[in-house]
Amino acid sequence: MNQTSSANEPSVSSSLPRRSFMSGAALAGLGLAGLSSQASAAESQAAQELFTVPQDANGEYALPPLPYAYDALEPSIDAETMRLHHDIHFNGYKKGLNAALAKLKEFREAGDYPQISYWENSLAFNGAGYNLHTVFFAGMAPAGTDKPSAAFEKQISTHFGSMDAFKGQFSEAAAKVQGSGWAILGWQPMGNQLVILQAEKHQNWSMWNVIPIMALDVWEHAYYLKYQNRRGDYIKNWWDVVNWDYAAGRLNAAQSIS
Ligand code: MN
Repeated sequence: MNQTSSANEPSVSSSLPRRSFMSGAALAGLGLAGLSSQASAAESQAAQELFTVPQDANGEYALPPLPYAYDALEPSIDAETMRLHHDIHFNGYKKGLNAALAKLKEFREAGDYPQISYWENSLAFNGAGYNLHTVFFAGMAPAGTDKPSAAFEKQISTHFGSMDAFKGQFSEAAAKVQGSGWAILGWQPMGNQLVILQAEKHQNWSMWNVIPIMALDVWEHAYYLKYQNRRGDYIKNWWDVVNWDYAAGRLNAAQSIS
């Protein structure tokens, strides 16, 4: 699972890391032009695969399959929690997102917008929930699968001082979410910066223009069966099942398109 191609290693030659092929200032200034001629087809494909999700036959959002068995993350996360979390909760956000989009389309076609605020809120809540669960489930792997690549660790150190400092802030943010929410490592293109967010629910305390790189779900449904009120133990054990290769891939892709 570790990165093997040096072509995929991020550039860390400056205090504002960018991919090596993005070193041209003109391209960097074009925002979304990163996936143009200077990016290889393979890189473009990799970025697209990381940022798109499956659709069903009707063109609606589908549930991304769990990329490992329900019990693959034990003992950090138990199989029953994974089954409920993925099949029921994640699927619920998928349904909610599709329902909100369908309802808003119905309103547009009728030219009449009853309960517009309810459905816009539902779009934000379920859309953010769907997105973050996509990153959460894909962002884990059986313990011992991989460890942070040197290049990824160097980027973390550039932005947070050290891997330990990053983990400290991320864990504390996760532990101190009031009620339900997330700790999120995100790439923020506006300032070419990595940031840690502490989102409440899925969409509050967020920041525009941030691409999630790692996401830790601290809603009670994510841990309560096994850990009850011991959220701190869940967070500590979650670090053992982080898919670092996925995080590094998302960071590379985010930097390549921003
Ligand atoms: Mn969840």
